[in-house]
Amino acid sequence: MMGRLRAMREPLKYVQGRDALLKFHEEMGYMGHRWLFVCSGSGYRAVHDKIEQSFGGLDDYRRYEIFGGISSVGEIEKMKKIVADDNIDVVVAAGGGSAVDTAKATAHYCGKHIVVVPTVAATDAPCTGLSVIYNDDGTFNQYLFYPKNPDAVMVDTCVIANAPVKFLIAGMGDALGTYFEGLASIRTESASLEGTGITRAGMALAKLCYETLREYGVQAVEACKQHVVTPALENIVEANVYLSGVGADNVNCAAAHSFYDGVTALGGKHAQHGNCVAFGTLVQLVLEGAPNDQFKDIQNFCLEVGLPVTLEEIGITTDEQIKTIAEHACVPGETIHNLAGDVQPIELYSAIIQADAMGRAVKG
Ligand SMILES: [Zn+2]
Repeated sequence: MMGRLRAMREPLKYVQGRDALLKFHEEMGYMGHRWLFVCSGSGYRAVHDKIEQSFGGLDDYRRYEIFGGISSVGEIEKMKKIVADDNIDVVVAAGGGSAVDTAKATAHYCGKHIVVVPTVAATDAPCTGLSVIYNDDGTFNQYLFYPKNPDAVMVDTCVIANAPVKFLIAGMGDALGTYFEGLASIRTESASLEGTGITRAGMALAKLCYETLREYGVQAVEACKQHVVTPALENIVEANVYLSGVGADNVNCAAAHSFYDGVTALGGKHAQHGNCVAFGTLVQLVLEGAPNDQFKDIQNFCLEVGLPVTLEEIGITTDEQIKTIAEHACVPGETIHNLAGDVQPIELYSAIIQADAMGRAVKG
């Protein structure tokens, strides 16, 4: 659309590297003197000692809250109260998606600075300007869009290297979607995820994200399995966390993420977000009529790094489930409609069936 304003959004500061957290205060100290750390249990263990060391002898106020479970309305209220009672300047998230989403929402409602310290690289959520909010009973409440992206994101790659490799692989699945979903959105001149025109900068980051996955994915998986930090691991962490997050925010999602939303409609426990997005990317390629060479090329990449190529690998086993996924992935407002031609559930169903069959054929 001609009249849409192009816009570009990203975190104001992004810092990544081996033992980065030892420089936490040096990099973030300008934001204030009273800190609330919203941590998952494992996030707390991964970051606490290094962050404390970074403060040296400073008497800044630091409060660590171990966070229970999901980014729910109730948890956010609890954190808002702490921010007010303790006169907090900066809210810091330390953990996976739930801690990140809770901290982002808290900082937004209280008008405070927000720093995100992801302790796994399983999704591209840290750099984005939105959160997924749940009700206290665990059901979906809303996507909360913020007027800006986080003040800062800091990734300690030693922490990522010491987390289970399945998280890094899932993050690569989420990142794989970014380029293909972005391309689909650009083709149809859709708005960005944030509702603005798509910039050339956003497109370039989405493309670089994909190229980085292809060039360094296999090596990074091996490094992470051995719990060592190498240039390949650094490159993939940057792709999963920064390039994919800023890329997706500034282009848009499409069928791969709608496929994931369809999977969540099945209820209960489901495979990791990134694993569903990876298979959803293969489904999208089928839906778009990608030539065989291209489909096989992406499928091979998934096989090489350990991403799923069949439904069984993401826990989908019945035809009924596939129909439910296809229905829910095509409801109005889903990003699948960034594809050309008003995709119908029967078309998506057919694409899922073909993608799965082609996966089963190579898995044997
Ligand atoms: Zn995603």
